Amino acid sequence: MNHSSFCRLIRPMVPSTCRVGRQQGPLTGILKKQYHSFANGLGEKQPFSLIWPWMKTEPLCESSTSTPRPTYEILGPGMIHLKNYVSLKDQVDIVNICQKWGMESGGFYKPSCQNGADNRQHMCFGRNWDPETRYDNIYTSDGSEPPPIPYELTSLAETAIQDAQAHLEEDELPSMCPDTCSVSFYPLDGRLGLHQDLDENSDALQKGLPVVSISIGYMAEFLYGHTRDEQKLNKVWLQSGDVIIFGGKSRLVYHGVSQICPYSAPQPLVSATALRAGRLSLTLRTI
Ligand code: MN
Repeated sequence: MNHSSFCRLIRPMVPSTCRVGRQQGPLTGILKKQYHSFANGLGEKQPFSLIWPWMKTEPLCESSTSTPRPTYEILGPGMIHLKNYVSLKDQVDIVNICQKWGMESGGFYKPSCQNGADNRQHMCFGRNWDPETRYDNIYTSDGSEPPPIPYELTSLAETAIQDAQAHLEEDELPSMCPDTCSVSFYPLDGRLGLHQDLDENSDALQKGLPVVSISIGYMAEFLYGHTRDEQKLNKVWLQSGDVIIFGGKSRLVYHGVSQICPYSAPQPLVSATALRAGRLSLTLRTI
């Protein structure tokens, strides 16, 4: 990693146009317990690491940096799948950013409302969101305030929305400046039950301000539709570097992840980052 990208990881830039949550909460016993969520096998608990600590990394070489040609598929009014949207180099940067912040205070933890199928590791930038407590001021892994959203992520989301708008009908997809980014890492058996994103403020929901979801690592089968009836849902595979956006009339679409495909991460990405087996998902929203 060169010096400037290292500095970017240490000190993310926050665009002045974006609101960024700065919240502080007390450290409670429950939160404390949840922080050290990954046992190192020696009885000590360590923060969850997105990368294999023992694996040697190799920088992306010229020949491996060519990302497949970006394409897109319109999935509904205000809903689009941008395929191969994030370059391999940017995917590597995103993994490194999440790894850096995920190991800090306020980093990855296992949410408490877990059943067997929901075994993700989770953290947030900007504002806290937790699968159980939803948007809450204090519910980070250890009670500390979440880090601001790194500039690379806000700018990626905003550019993706602009590109999506160019493919969609006029006014079909509103613009959005994210103030929260929810980061989840799903192991191979990770699932995301069918749900609607309803926790944002009513104004954002009413205006159909879009949700932007970035997939990195293993491929995932994404289900979506305007019904809870699983038989009537549509399916699409999200690959590493894909972005899915749903806003406007599709803002309240039901969606979930039904399966993750093993060994489906791009090899250059794994070699450059030592990313663990699983799927990293980043979801940007305004609340
Ligand atoms: Mn969702």
